[in-house]
Amino acid sequence: MNKFLVLVVEDDAPVRNLITTTLKAHDYRYLTAENGENAILQVTSHNPDVILLDLGLPDMDGVEVIKRIRTWSNTPIIVISARSEDTDKIDALDAGADDYLTKPFSVEELLARLRVTQRHFALMKQEKENDTFENGDLRIDYAAGCAWLAGEELHLTPIEYKLLCILSRNMGKVLTHTYITQQIWGSSWENDVASLRVFMATLRRKLESGPEAKQYIQTHIGIGYRMLRVE
Ligand code: CA
Repeated sequence: MNKFLVLVVEDDAPVRNLITTTLKAHDYRYLTAENGENAILQVTSHNPDVILLDLGLPDMDGVEVIKRIRTWSNTPIIVISARSEDTDKIDALDAGADDYLTKPFSVEELLARLRVTQRHFALMKQEKENDTFENGDLRIDYAAGCAWLAGEELHLTPIEYKLLCILSRNMGKVLTHTYITQQIWGSSWENDVASLRVFMATLRRKLESGPEAKQYIQTHIGIGYRMLRVE
């Protein structure tokens, strides 16, 4: 039995039914809400492990729901939006959403997103116990301020290292350009986003080149970046 409890917030009944049928078939437990107020109430009373949140709700903006939930809860939120709502998606990620699904999505995509969230959850617990990070061949000792790849110390510039820490501490989560540039430079001008691309490219060269190279960082065009879990 999968112990993971999923809150499905969606006013569109066919979509909601597709999601709950999928969850049921894969042994997830679930709750549903058809509007924002009810979603917030359910989070307060049932403390779900993950929230699937449609951005277009009848009573309030999905981004507002995220902002309100984030005042007291870190529960992972995966937003569901239509392809035309790209700006909303970015606003949702900046408001504290962890990931997104674009309508129409497949059952496989939905399950993959849930698995990413579950793994992220397990890792966060483990990471809290010691101040080190491990993912594939990558190891970071946050206390020492050092990173290794397959046992070889990585020679990173201060900004590359900071970037690596931001991504690793949020593994599995899509981070927007605005979020990352704010963390690094405290601002988010267009120039900062351009610089971010440059630093990201140099970091990825150090991290993802060579014969044994694995992909650690995923680019979300027009949105941002995410660190992937490497098996
Ligand atoms: Ca809707």
